[in-house]
Amino acid sequence: MSKKTLLLNASYEVLSFIPERKVFKLLFKDKVEVVSNWDENIVWGNGRMKHPSILRLKNHVKRNYFNSNFSRKALVKRDRSTCQYCGDKLSASKITVDHVLPRAQGGVTSFINCVVCCHFCNNKKADKTPEQANMVLLKKPTHPSFSSHHYVADPQEHWHTDWDDFLGN
Ligand SMILES: [Zn+2]
Repeated sequence: MSKKTLLLNASYEVLSFIPERKVFKLLFKDKVEVVSNWDENIVWGNGRMKHPSILRLKNHVKRNYFNSNFSRKALVKRDRSTCQYCGDKLSASKITVDHVLPRAQGGVTSFINCVVCCHFCNNKKADKTPEQANMVLLKKPTHPSFSSHHYVADPQEHWHTDWDDFLGN
């Protein structure tokens, strides 16, 4: 299995894993800088270069673009129906969605900003950030495709330790 390249936004936010041809395209167009590399080389034009493990866009792209597949169902699955503040396992009817940065404070509906939450914690938190409400998230919300479970589960997959900083592993 070929090794993956993680693409970050200019703000170091995780965007996606990208295939090798996209790596070349972004490098060729000078859209990215290399953050870290695998040990192996790849063929690049007439020469060789280290296979990048992390690339970062030079210009910031809008995050919303990457949230087009947001769904409540996928969010519930990611958080395993568990309130991300008190840890209670919730039945379907008890699940609410909390905006970590509240909409009232400019928070958007995205995988990065939404968590499964019980009624009690949602009422307690209201229009406050976790810090303002003195509440602590069980874990930092991530895009489901980038959950560490997904990748660790596959023994064929090559894991780059530099990804830990970005994928919340
Ligand atoms: Zn709760």
